[in-house]
Parts: sequence; C-alpha cells; structure tokens
Amino acid sequence: MNTNTRIRTRFAPSPTGDLHIGGARTALFAYLWAKKNNGDFILRIEDTDQERSQKGSLTSITEGLRWLGLEWDEGPGIGGDKGPYFQSERLEIYNKHLQTLVDNKKAYYCFCTRERLDAMRKTQQENKLPPRYDRTCRRLAEKEIQKKLNENIEHVVRLAVPEEGSVEVHDLLRGKVIFNAKDIDDQILMKSDGFPTYHLANVIDDHLMEISHVIRGEEWLPSLPKHILLYDAFKWEAPLFVHLSLFLAKGGGKVSKRQGAMGIFAFRDQGYLVESLLNFCALLGWNPKSEEEFFTLDELIKKFTLENINTSNPIFETEKLEWMNQHYIRKLSAKDILRRIKNLKPLEGKETYTAFIAWFETLEKIRQESIWNALAERSKKLTELPAIMQWLNTPTIKEEELIWKKSTKEDTLQALTAVREHLAHYNENEFIRAEQEQSTIDWIAASEWGNGDILWPVRMALSGKKQSPSPFELMEILGKEETLKRIDYAISLLKK
Ligand code: GLU
Repeated sequence: MNTNTRIRTRFAPSPTGDLHIGGARTALFAYLWAKKNNGDFILRIEDTDQERSQKGSLTSITEGLRWLGLEWDEGPGIGGDKGPYFQSERLEIYNKHLQTLVDNKKAYYCFCTRERLDAMRKTQQENKLPPRYDRTCRRLAEKEIQKKLNENIEHVVRLAVPEEGSVEVHDLLRGKVIFNAKDIDDQILMKSDGFPTYHLANVIDDHLMEISHVIRGEEWLPSLPKHILLYDAFKWEAPLFVHLSLFLAKGGGKVSKRQGAMGIFAFRDQGYLVESLLNFCALLGWNPKSEEEFFTLDELIKKFTLENINTSNPIFETEKLEWMNQHYIRKLSAKDILRRIKNLKPLEGKETYTAFIAWFETLEKIRQESIWNALAERSKKLTELPAIMQWLNTPTIKEEELIWKKSTKEDTLQALTAVREHLAHYNENEFIRAEQEQSTIDWIAASEWGNGDILWPVRMALSGKKQSPSPFELMEILGKEETLKRIDYAISLLKK
C-alpha cells in the first residue's frame, strides 16, 4: 500500500440475519481504524447469495450500526462516488471484470453438471481426498467451449488456480502465511444464476472502492490465497489485511451456540446499554495496553491501534459484560434511564415495564433521582429495574412476623406507633433517603428503642418480607401516604 493512500475501511455484511455481536465487533474495529486516521468507513451489502438473503436483515444491520454510533461515510442511504453499495446492483461491473479474466486465461467456463460434481465429491470422500474440482473443463478446447456457450449450456466460471508453486499472503497481525497452490480449489467466481460468488465480488469491490485495509473475521483467512490470486490476475495491488480472531465462549466452543441470541438488539432488549456493548466489543481482541477498561467511542478512536489487536481467541464473558453494564448504568440520570427503558422491547413482562414507566414518570424529580440511585447500585441490567414494582403491591402481612425476635407484641405495637408519629412529621418530598434515613437513625438512637425494634417491624409492615430493600428505600419507593397506610394496617393487626 502506498504510504499516502487514504485510509478506507469497510464493513461488508451479507444480509443473512440480524447484526450479531461478532459482526458488530468487526464493524467497530474497521470504523475505529478509519476514524483514527481521518479516513472513510464504508458499508457495503454483500447480497449476491439470493438464497441466503433474509428480509429484515438489512434493517437490522443498518439500524444496529446506527444504534452503536458507527455511522458510515458511504453506503446504503448515504451514497458515495464508489457506489452502488449493494452488490446485487453491481452485476454488470462483475461481468465486465470477469470477462477480462476469461480473456487472459485466468478464469474458465465450467459446464460440469451437478450430478457429475456430486459423483466426483463422493469418490473423493471415499478415497479420503480433499474436495476439489478435478479441472476437467479447464482442458476443454476453445471450439468446444464456444459450442457449449452457443447452445446455452448451463455453466459457471472458475478461477484457474496455478497448478504448482505457492501463494504467499500477508496478514498485518499474523505476518506471512504461505499456502500450497495444490491445496487451493478452482474456486467458482460466477454462478450459473449470473451472480458472482463472494470471492469475486469482494475482490472487485474492495479494489474499486479503494479499500486500504480489509478488516474482517478470521473465518475468511483461508479464502485469502484465492483473493490474492484474483488481485494478481487483475494486476491490482491488494489492500492490507487484518483477520480478527473469533471469540470463544467461556469453557470453549463457539459463542453463538452457547449463548443463544447474539443479535445486538437482543442484547439491548436484555437490558444492556450501548455504551457497555461497544466497550465490551472493543476489548474482545483489542488490548489497550493499560489498566484502563472503560472507553467511550471517542476515546477508542484515539487509542485504537491495529498492533494491539491480539491474535489469540478472546473469551466472551457475560459476567464481564454485566459488570461493565452496571458501571455504565450507574452513570445514567433518572431521565436518561426512562428514555432507555422506553426504547426496550422486552420479550416478556411488557406490562411490568409499562407499569414501571408510568409509575416512575409520576414521581417528583427528587424522588426519581433518589430511587434511581438506589436501583443503580444493584442493577446489572435495565431489565432488572421493573422488579421494583413488586414492592408496590400490597403485601400480605402476618401479625407474628411483625415482632422482632428480641421483642414482644406490646413493645412492637408501641415501637410502630412511635415511629409512625416520627415519620408523619416529614412531608412527601422529604420521603427520600437523603432526607430521612440519618435523621430517623438519630431519632431511634435518642429514643428508648433499638434499631431492630423499629426497623424490623417497619420493613415487615412495608414489604411483608424478611428480604427486601432497606426500610428507608421501601419508604421512598412507596411515598409518605402509602408508607403510613401500611404501618397503620400493621398497627391495627397488633391491636387485635
Ligand atoms: N460478506 C462477508 C461476510 O458476511 C464479508 C467478509 C469480508 O469482510 O470480506 O462476512
């Protein structure tokens, strides 16, 4: 690559499903490298496999990238002078270039039928030979080829891989890798349906779109020798290549199989914030070479380098993602949190979300913030927040459970009556922890009661449960009126 070449990277997904976390990581790295160098990030849709293309996938990809903040400079919806950016709209370009390969004997027509190829595969399998096209059509005479073409016999076009020697490829992370030409199949470049294969379209587009760095998943490394042969056949200078190691699930194995839904919107709807997903993706293979773990997109742009990408397989640790998510959740304001929750599409418990949002919105701002502080401290995901709603349901209270183990019914009655009087002095807005927690503790200290005498029955009166948020948190969730109502009810039980 020429040193004054403009840095241009691309994300080139096939629209065969939702944008998943692996794709998001590839896109992020390509984006970071382009932005770090004030270059261009291109989105190209590789939709030449008509059978595998899925409706809705394009939207998932474009919306997903936008949600992540990875805006492209050229591509769908934006345009650019190297378009079109959908491969299905570039068929003429591929045909034209393919013809030059055929003319230069770098590619050839293959008329073999499916049946013949299947039989060939079978024999190869039986003889434990690698699956390879046996190159029968490569030896066809010019006349014969013309005849078959004139007769419109179904055909594909294959790459004429050198029969001997080696193909040297370079990956910026892995260095030089040498492939034996004998191990490379005569790759189909153009299918019988008139659509190019990935290999042909990808090489032509990367060249014509002036991509300087191809950043993609490691699964494409074995294809690189074919691509290099194509660049050579076209007499084009190849871009630089970076193949990102696939990440593995904890304990080994592919992540997708083990974690279930890996689509990035599935992560969003499970309650992960975009900040955490981005940050987490960046660390799936990139090493900041410092103790720092939290980075915004802008910081990543500044710090990202290709040299610091690891070649070992990163491990996808859900616990780490949760921990990161908690960190970012804590930074949000109550207003932010409402906005984020409104954007979630929970798979279950939709009513609880709606109820949570409706309830939270009615609270005074000061109470929202205070409740949010408590919630943020212990929530790993946004989806955990609506669980708070359970405390709003009127609890079933058993009289005997109101009595603390070191106390009696009479004492509990007196203690509850006293604390009720104390709490009644606060106005509604003072029913937040910052206002009444310490002053109530001080009041207990100055009284004839111990903490347990007061706080145990209050917790039970408000929640009906031994395990609940602290009594002060419960009070702020319930508000003054409901708190006093529940305490009054508990008092009435004890009076019976
Ligand atoms: N269309 C390929 C994919 O979906 C792109 C691979 C590449 O970046 O070269 O993974």
